[in-house]
Amino acid sequence: MGALLQFEDVNFAYHSMDGETPVLSDLSFQVEEREFLSIVGPSGCGKSTILSLIAGLMEPETGSIFFPAQKEQKKSVIIGYMLQKDHLFEWRTIINNVTLGLEIRHMKTKENVRKAEELLEKYGLGKFKKSRPSQLSGGMRQRAALIRTLVLEPELLLLDEPFSALDYQTRLSVGDDIGTIIRKEKKTAVLVTHDLSEAISLGTRVLVLSNRPARVVCDIALDFDEKLTPLEKRNDPQFQAYFQKIWKELNKSGE
Ligand code: ADP
Repeated sequence: MGALLQFEDVNFAYHSMDGETPVLSDLSFQVEEREFLSIVGPSGCGKSTILSLIAGLMEPETGSIFFPAQKEQKKSVIIGYMLQKDHLFEWRTIINNVTLGLEIRHMKTKENVRKAEELLEKYGLGKFKKSRPSQLSGGMRQRAALIRTLVLEPELLLLDEPFSALDYQTRLSVGDDIGTIIRKEKKTAVLVTHDLSEAISLGTRVLVLSNRPARVVCDIALDFDEKLTPLEKRNDPQFQAYFQKIWKELNKSGE
């Protein structure tokens, strides 16, 4: 499997009346197909900026961001975004929320609606398809938000601190849930988080960034048994070793 996404010597700065804020400095990394890349780094180092650049909401100043397959096949890579807030609309039922993206893209065919219903069923929300978002728990809402993205068949999922609005206990089980779904659906994902345990339990690789302007401090492949869920990984003896290794790097990165 090859690289799905490539950053090559990317530089980026924000410009305002008060001056320039350099955010990324010669940043290079790649994301392989089916990989789950967790990006960690000090607060304000540029993690969300990286996701906005991947989504094409902004352009790098120098360097390039490209999808190698897109170059070869001249097709657009479909990107799904998952944010801290689930942005489900209260006046719509769950099925109508989940099919909203299809509606906007004029893709709400019978077949696609059936696919949405199947995903709701598969991931335990079948009974709730006629419910309103407020009738669901925080975790179920995040699952519905993920399904809304999955029905569009994204090739790349971008997750921007998607669990940080949840309390600790819920956060663990929702992370487990969402991570397991993403793996079952064989998606490529990039997660940015300031929570190192979350990064290690969900990722197949962790990229540690320095203070702003961000550069790669280290890039660590995680070698857990594939069958382990994110929660099970937290109890694996390797987890603590990875945590300590990356924690050290993170502290160096902030110096
Ligand atoms: P992180 O996600 O790692 O916390 P961000 O990518 O959100 O970091 O932001 C990186 C830096 O850029 C921060 O110092 C932030 O204050 C600054 N920044 C973010 N967005 C803007 C903007 N629109 N204009 C100016 N500065 C910004």
